[in-house]
Amino acid sequence: MSYSAAGDVTAPGVQVDITGGDSGCTADDFAGFPAGAVAVTMRGACSFAQKTQNAADAGASAVLVINSSDELLSGTLSDPSEIPAVGVSGAAGADLLAAGDALELRVMVDSVVQTRESFNILAETARGRDDNVVVVGGHLDSVEEGAGMNDNGSGTAFVLETAIQLAEQAPPRNQVRFAFWGTEESGLIGSTRYVEGLDEGELDDIALYLNFDMIGSSNYARFILDGGGELPDSEAAPSGSGAIAAVLKEYFDSQGQVSEPGVLSGRTDYRPFSLAGVPVGGLFSGADGVKTEEQVEWYGGTAGETYDPYYHTAEDSMANVSSDSLSDLSAAGAYAVEFFAESTLPVNGVFRAAAAPDFPRLGDEWVR
Ligand SMILES: [Zn+2]
Repeated sequence: MSYSAAGDVTAPGVQVDITGGDSGCTADDFAGFPAGAVAVTMRGACSFAQKTQNAADAGASAVLVINSSDELLSGTLSDPSEIPAVGVSGAAGADLLAAGDALELRVMVDSVVQTRESFNILAETARGRDDNVVVVGGHLDSVEEGAGMNDNGSGTAFVLETAIQLAEQAPPRNQVRFAFWGTEESGLIGSTRYVEGLDEGELDDIALYLNFDMIGSSNYARFILDGGGELPDSEAAPSGSGAIAAVLKEYFDSQGQVSEPGVLSGRTDYRPFSLAGVPVGGLFSGADGVKTEEQVEWYGGTAGETYDPYYHTAEDSMANVSSDSLSDLSAAGAYAVEFFAESTLPVNGVFRAAAAPDFPRLGDEWVR
């Protein structure tokens, strides 16, 4: 688990309320737990951090969390833990559970938990309404295992190139702010700190946020972040988010390109904006979901494989970025940035002032 303490312990493994559905979630689960043993828990009902803290409080020397599926479990604790915490695949977990009381374990975690400094980089157009700002962002960091060319070199390359191209155009009606977020992979830290650092007026001045996290997946799909709540697994998004999705869909439609809503999972940097009430949207070419036959008809690629088999691996290199995906999604993203730089009317009802020259003015307002 990320943020696990380091350690090397050899001790009996003791099952903790394995069948209750909320294994390790309460102090009661650890009643009679032998001090120094390794707590063996199941995933579910509460956070990995909660199970780990309860185990530490009960005197466990380490904690295992067994996945609910056969895959390996790579969890993240919210804070550095006091004892080693390890995720276990459901398949390996079944063997451990089958051993029952006879389980003797050696648990070794070689980890470093330290405080590091990171940065966001922001740039904005000199012109345009600064009370109706369009923010366009992607995360600049990647995971330690990988080269990071798709996650998220693809998104940040799009944001950078769009900024360069926009600077060559006539001044936008609305100010456009480009954001390169630090430390997304460790828990959306850069974007969260940025939003937390805005006062109410500054937050109010942001019309919408567009996110680009992975747009060059090798086995790609054209996913539009589901601001309209079309998918059952999507988080609720602020009003106006559906209109952002509609603008992106209209663009793909105009090109004769299929697109689909992509689950608004809250797993990347739009989340702090969404929680603060800012309409959000963006594009995504897919990561660990599996491509269907129907999607192969739409986009090509391979059915039954994940959208990005190189996701968070050392093979996330230039060789495994799809230039078709990058170019299709970049074109749509650039269209949306230009569209909203001109007018955010469909999202928040704010129209470019120059479009209403026949209305008399009262102070700063147009009067109909
Ligand atoms: Zn990412």
